[in-house]
Amino acid sequence: MRDPSVSRYTAGRLSPIRRTSDLRRLRDEEFDVLVIGGGVTGAGAAVDAASRGLKVALVEARDFAAGTSSRSSKLIHGGLRYLEQLELHLVHEALTERGLLATRLAPHLVRPVPIMVPLPAANPAKRVWQRGYYGLGVAAYDVFAGVFGGGRGMPLHRHLSRNGARHLFPSLQADKISGAIRYYDGQVDDARLVVNLARTAAAQGAAVVTSARVTGFVREARQVVGVRVKDLEAPGSAEFEVRAKTVVAATGVWSDDMSAMLRDVGLRPGLRVRASKGVHLVVPRSAITGEAGLILRTATSVLFVLPWGGHWIIGTTDTDWQLDRSHPAASARDIRYLLDQVNEVLDRPLTTDDIEGVYAGLRPLLSGEADSTSKLSREHAVVEPMLGLLLVAGGKYTTYRVMAADVIDRAVRRLGGPALESRTDQLPLLGADGYAAAWRDRQDMARRHGVTTGVVEHLLERYGTLTVHLLAMMAADPELAVPLDGAPEYLAAEVAYAALAEGALHLDDVLTRRTRISIETAHRGAETAEHAARVMGAVLGWDETVRRREVEHYQARVTAERESQTMPDDLAADAARVGAPDVRGLTADRRAVLLEADL
Ligand SMILES: Cc1cc2nc3c(=O)[nH]c(=O)nc-3n(C[C@H](O)[C@H](O)[C@H](O)COP(=O)(O)OP(=O)(O)OC[C@H]3O[C@@H](n4cnc5c(N)ncnc54)[C@H](O)[C@@H]3O)c2cc1C
Repeated sequence: MRDPSVSRYTAGRLSPIRRTSDLRRLRDEEFDVLVIGGGVTGAGAAVDAASRGLKVALVEARDFAAGTSSRSSKLIHGGLRYLEQLELHLVHEALTERGLLATRLAPHLVRPVPIMVPLPAANPAKRVWQRGYYGLGVAAYDVFAGVFGGGRGMPLHRHLSRNGARHLFPSLQADKISGAIRYYDGQVDDARLVVNLARTAAAQGAAVVTSARVTGFVREARQVVGVRVKDLEAPGSAEFEVRAKTVVAATGVWSDDMSAMLRDVGLRPGLRVRASKGVHLVVPRSAITGEAGLILRTATSVLFVLPWGGHWIIGTTDTDWQLDRSHPAASARDIRYLLDQVNEVLDRPLTTDDIEGVYAGLRPLLSGEADSTSKLSREHAVVEPMLGLLLVAGGKYTTYRVMAADVIDRAVRRLGGPALESRTDQLPLLGADGYAAAWRDRQDMARRHGVTTGVVEHLLERYGTLTVHLLAMMAADPELAVPLDGAPEYLAAEVAYAALAEGALHLDDVLTRRTRISIETAHRGAETAEHAARVMGAVLGWDETVRRREVEHYQARVTAERESQTMPDDLAADAARVGAPDVRGLTADRRAVLLEADL
């Protein structure tokens, strides 16, 4: 529990000092719940448990959202596809979450994005049928959200004629469509929401430590009573034990590794997770003229073209991946596939020259085998393969809160004691309180702080009401009020704040996840690295050697990624990408064939 004399903001500040004191807590205390994995599921579970009054620790091997949770399509969505498959309970669940996030929990981070469903040109009878079919689906989506979803938080859909569609999306080849339907879903900066969750957990009293890799479980007889942790920021230090009454592994595509750590007791894992790679391209907004996103059917799945600030995100692919899970690589084939798909409908074809950024993520897909103790929906599963250890995996970003509540319900049942209910549906994340009023007053705020309204809007949409802290830093040090070299839409203050309050420990954390400079600039952050390292180094006390190492590592990563994206296939792309090791000194994270065979 948080000390009531400390403000929620102060308690949620993930500063270097806080890391040291939380590391000490890991060594000294016994926790009710220890969560492994700082993706959206683990950070969500930590918030859920801590807000029920439990004593919680969260450990993450790399950085918050360094796994899948920073590499999604960035939609908070009900899933039109589930509607088509009549999976109504899943649509209902996801739309409820979308409404909650957009209106109460994180309105500063989750915003409506308009998306167009183009209706293909066809004979009149087929046209009527198509409009009826898609129109009914999208109407049902809105009704579901409004009537059952506890508040839409999104505008209603609209039918568009062919001219209307052309007007909204001039780059669409007009002869290929007969009209369109525009609907809304939520959009989020996925990495930022996770950091915000981790900070909200910390504000509720959780000990939160990144660069803390779990290397094994501590067992007493046949029960898990804790974990062994390696502090990757202190490579020479010994591993240490953290005691916990319940351990929750929310490790996404690394879930099988958790089971493998217990293979000596002949454990049946209860669930298996396989990885499917999804690649996205980022192109400048000027490359395509349109005021809404697009959802397009492909032979195997769907393709999204989504507006993303001054850019478009185009994705995704869906292919099996068994190579390095920490740094999944996009190959030239993935990139070609996406360009071919999107060029089917654009009037000016995109080429590789248009591409600013490329990112690849791994979907944690459940692959059968959920034992009798599991709660398996088509989306996610919670299992207890051994007393004291809960695994939660699958699902999607949008429904992280449901997964978190499910696994912590299970933990609470095992802990005994009072039946504490999840209350995260009532808990705004840090920065959400008072957001609507702050947005209304943004011009005043800009005047008061002597900055432009554009700066305040940019900050409000990323930090919510915590914006005042960044503005105060900028007022105290004018060097923080300047734009970053090579990425003028971001301010130096954001880098300093990331290190001071958002748990960023390395340049990579700042350029890739606290900001999205690594995918939003054609130089991929290479031209920003020096400036950002100077600002970050001043906060973290880096000497010249450390600063140099951070910049060199970042540049090597960019070079390796670029090279991998010229490779013809996954194997070659992976080999090129692993040439630049993780800044936290992890060894290449290949799915060991040996472990697989042992399970
Ligand atoms: C291409 C793509 C597009 C997607 N688009 C959407 C979308 O638009 N909307 C949506 O709702 N969902 C989407 N998803 C799904 C969604 O992104 C994932 O379901 C979600 O991010 C998974 O989160 P997670 O926390 O379970 O896993 P992760 O984010 O991977 O987190 C697991 C964490 O565990 C850590 N970890 C692993 N081993 C250890 C260890 N030994 N010690 C400590 N920490 C460890 C890892 O470092 C990692 O940070 C998409 C997924 C992909 C791949």
